[in-house]
Amino acid sequence: MRIDEKLTDYVVEQVVRLVKTPSLAGHTDAAVGYVEKELTAMGVEHRRTGRGALLVTLAGRDPGPQRALTAHVDTLGAMVKELGKDGSLLFTSVGGYALGTVEGEYVTVETTSGKLVRGTILFDEPSAHVSKKVHDTKREFENMRIRLDAEVRDQKAVSKLGIAVGDYVHFDPRCEVTDTGFIKTRHLDDKAGVACLLGSLKALADSGQRPRLTTHFLFSTSEEVGFGASSGIPPEVTELVAVDMGAVGKGQESDEYSVCICAKDSTGPFDYALRQRLVKLCRTQKVPYKVDVYPFYGSDAAVAVRAGLDAVTGLIGPGINASHNLERTHRKALAATVRLVLAYVAGEK
Ligand SMILES: [Zn+2]
Repeated sequence: MRIDEKLTDYVVEQVVRLVKTPSLAGHTDAAVGYVEKELTAMGVEHRRTGRGALLVTLAGRDPGPQRALTAHVDTLGAMVKELGKDGSLLFTSVGGYALGTVEGEYVTVETTSGKLVRGTILFDEPSAHVSKKVHDTKREFENMRIRLDAEVRDQKAVSKLGIAVGDYVHFDPRCEVTDTGFIKTRHLDDKAGVACLLGSLKALADSGQRPRLTTHFLFSTSEEVGFGASSGIPPEVTELVAVDMGAVGKGQESDEYSVCICAKDSTGPFDYALRQRLVKLCRTQKVPYKVDVYPFYGSDAAVAVRAGLDAVTGLIGPGINASHNLERTHRKALAATVRLVLAYVAGEK
C-alpha cells in the first residue's frame, strides 16, 4: 500500500502527542489511555492485558499461522530515591541511560496525590563560579541531584510539599518538529514505533483492508525495564516482529531516513528467513531500508522468546539518532516503517 503525506503527518502528530504523555514503566496508564482513545476513534477494537498492555487483533483473510507486531509505550525517566538534606532530591533511573545525557534537563516530579513540582537535574556542585568539580567529575547517581523549583532548604520542607521516596520523575521531552522534516525529542524510543503502528492501523481501518493472516498488535508497557512483551502475545503466534528504534551511530548502517531491519542485536541473530522476507518486501515496494547489527540492544522480541513464546522473531524500526539521549529521526524513517509494516501485514507469502 502506498502511503500519502497525510498519513505521515498523522504519524508525526502521534509521535508529538505520545512523547508529551508521561509513561514510565509501572506508570504507563496515561499513554495506554491515549493509544486506547486513538484506536477507538479509528474504530479498531482492542483490549487491555493483565499487565496493562493493549492488544489489537485483526482477523486474517486466510486461515493459518498468526503473527504479531509489538511496540512499547514505556520510556525513560527517574524516581525519587532519597530526600537530600539541602532540600534537593536524589534519584534512581527508570530504564537505562548515561547520566550526562540528562544533566541540565528540566523535570516534573509527580507526587502520589498527583501534585506536579518542577525541577532540574544537576550535578551537586553545578556552579562553575563556586566549584571546579563541575568540569571533570564523573557523573554518578551519588553526585547528581534534582533542584526543586520551590523554596525548600531541608528534607522537612520537601516532605511538606508532598514529595516522597518512590515519586515518579518525568523528563521534559523537548519536542520539536523542524521544517526540514526532523522530529527531535526525547522518548522516540519507542514512541516512534507506537506511532508507526497507530499509523498502520489507521491506514488499514481507513482502507477497509484486512491482513492475509490474523495479526495481533501489542502495545507493551515495560520494555525499558526488561519485561516488555513477556506476556500478552497469544500463544497461536508463530512470528513476531518488534517495531523499535534502529540504532544510528558511528559504524552503523542505520540512518534517520530508512526503516532499519536488525540482523543481530545483543541477544543474537534474528530469524534469517523472516529477515530476508522483510528485506524483499522493502526491495519490491521500494521502501528505503538498512540492514544493521546493534551492539548494545535488546527488544520486546527477545523478551517474548525468553518468556517462552514459540515463535520466530524479527526487529524493524525507524532509525533514531542519539538513542537514550536527545534523540532525533526524520519523517522519512517513520513513513518507511509504516510502509514496511503495511506490506508485511498485507499479504506476502
Ligand atoms: Zn525501545
